[in-house]
Amino acid sequence: MVQYLLMITAELENLTNLQPQGGSDDVNFPFMFKLKCGCGEVTEKETCVSLNETVPLPTGRGNAHLVQKCKFCGRSGNLTMITGQGRPLTQEASQAGSFMPVMAFDCRGFEPLEFHFGGTWQAESIEGTKFEGIDLSEGEYADYDEKGECPVMISNPRAKFTVVK
Ligand SMILES: [Zn+2]
Repeated sequence: MVQYLLMITAELENLTNLQPQGGSDDVNFPFMFKLKCGCGEVTEKETCVSLNETVPLPTGRGNAHLVQKCKFCGRSGNLTMITGQGRPLTQEASQAGSFMPVMAFDCRGFEPLEFHFGGTWQAESIEGTKFEGIDLSEGEYADYDEKGECPVMISNPRAKFTVVK
């Protein structure tokens, strides 16, 4: 079992505290990424997991958020999400080029890679205006903060999975 931490960053203009809508541990938030089997095979399409969907393990003991069989070698792997790891991406962290953790995944048999920014996200303007329903799937988001009378923008979202030692 290896634990991977999903880390994200993005350029934030007049925004701070970027995070999945409802927070990192929102049970409905969809995490989409590809899987690489121990044999080297990478899945063609992204897999989607969320906290509110679990499946029984083949052993019959307990549940996981994903059980998947590699199409190439036939080996079965599984993944369990670990909550309580997420921290919003602040403007300071963004400006420093730092990545912030969103969610941890305990993986057996494969590793996650190529996170896709699906789902909806939330952020706040520097003036405290809340922005919800942010779509980052196209890699860019722009709106206007009436209160602060300034444009707000998110661009160049990036993600990586780091191994937790
Ligand atoms: Zn395989």
